[in-house]
Amino acid sequence: MSYDSNNIFAKILRDEIPSFKVYEDDYTLAFMDIMPQADGHTLVIPKFQAQTLLDIPADELSHTMTTVQKVMSALKSTLGVEGVVLMQLNGAAAGQTVPHLHFHLIPEHLSKLSGH
Ligand code: 5GP
Repeated sequence: MSYDSNNIFAKILRDEIPSFKVYEDDYTLAFMDIMPQADGHTLVIPKFQAQTLLDIPADELSHTMTTVQKVMSALKSTLGVEGVVLMQLNGAAAGQTVPHLHFHLIPEHLSKLSGH
């Protein structure tokens, strides 16, 4: 399917709707998820118009993963996050609701596992 330039993340990239941005460079944007699964739940997206992981060239994906690393590092150093789940859904059948490639960074804490 072709890229829908009216999807919500395309609008965020064009600043047509607001978002809480935490990092931006020439190739990527990171911003807070509007319905966080945990405090600090961040989304990283390429500026390249890709719907899924299959639609992005290797060099653009490399820039995107570098930003994923930067944000993960910042979550650990600034918020004291102990672990980060990296989640990425491809296609509606997999649960993808926004048709612009995105990586979820979901902070986790050991206390959650031990029930404290
Ligand atoms: P998906 O299910 O496609 O992997 O995840 C899409 C994510 O985008 C969801 O976690 C959802 O909360 C988030 N989201 C949807 N609309 C908006 C929005 O307008 N702003 C922000 N910041 N996040 C959004």
